[in-house]
Amino acid sequence: MLAASPFIINSTGAVATLPFSRRDGPSLVRLLVLPANDRFSFKTVTRMPNAPTIARTLSSLHRARSELSKRNASVALVPTMGALHDGHVSLVRLAKRRAKKVVVSIFVNPTQFAAHEDLGSYPRTWKTDIAKLKAEGVDLVWHPDAKTMYPEGFATRVAPEGPATAGLEDRFRPHFFGGVATVVTKLFTQVRPDFALFGEKDFQQMKVVTRMARDLDLGVRIIGGAIVRERDGLAMSSRNVYLSPDQRRAAPTLFSTLKTTSKRMRAGEDFRSAIKAGEDAISSAGFTLDYLEARHAETLAPISSFKDGPVRLLVAAKIGTTRLIDNIKA
Ligand code: AMP
Repeated sequence: MLAASPFIINSTGAVATLPFSRRDGPSLVRLLVLPANDRFSFKTVTRMPNAPTIARTLSSLHRARSELSKRNASVALVPTMGALHDGHVSLVRLAKRRAKKVVVSIFVNPTQFAAHEDLGSYPRTWKTDIAKLKAEGVDLVWHPDAKTMYPEGFATRVAPEGPATAGLEDRFRPHFFGGVATVVTKLFTQVRPDFALFGEKDFQQMKVVTRMARDLDLGVRIIGGAIVRERDGLAMSSRNVYLSPDQRRAAPTLFSTLKTTSKRMRAGEDFRSAIKAGEDAISSAGFTLDYLEARHAETLAPISSFKDGPVRLLVAAKIGTTRLIDNIKA
């Protein structure tokens, strides 16, 4: 079998046969090791994938994008703002399972930040981001600057309604979904993906983007990814680096309160009273609460009984100046 395959012999006498690929990680190479005593053995070693192509201008993006779909390969897009963590990586792995080629966009989108928010200080970790994407075998990174995305004279904004006006994030960040919808529409028309991956961490955002892709016939299927958490339950977020040690210790209260509130609701307690207890727990841990709410998991409408449909519990709260969000299936 080996003789029929192309192979490479290195200076230690190791023979590498044709690489075969693993679906969600670096490709593997089988090595036939020829030690001094001539007893053959096979070893499997990891071969690092190629670095992704990086496109910073629309013309280089379009060139790279045409390359990707040469043999009709399907393409999945993972939109991010960089400062990548395991939550982002989980979306990349989901994307790899869905499509032959994976594009990750890294763009800190100014139009979704209000003037008083953290656009200027948002963490930027380009080198480690690219190392992570390379390790995952990502094909293309789309990294435009703000001028490329919003050139002089830019004057169009997508104004989502429905889930974007559900009275959750939109109540506290009125600028947010307009900015997200506009940039995501642009990302979709620029990259033309077959699939796009969004995290349940930003549950309302996932609903907004799903609705928008349907309403505008954007030809992309939206796929949600489960929330990835730290060992103590805190949902991973690029903003967690802002937390002081004391705040970091308090932060898992959001997740533990979501779980306790859900348990009480499931045990038959009135939703309003279970939520009131949850609000008190979050405030006692030092947070300023924006909301803790039970919503219909599909429509995001307020819900007060399990009889009325699937329930999602969502929370947003500030600790110090850092705003954290989380949610669970109740
Ligand atoms: P961001 O870079 O924060 O804009 O996030 C990019 C994508 O990653 C969004 O679809 C987020 O919902 C998703 N995401 C962020 N944090 C997590 C997490 N802890 N688990 C899963 N997905 C996440």
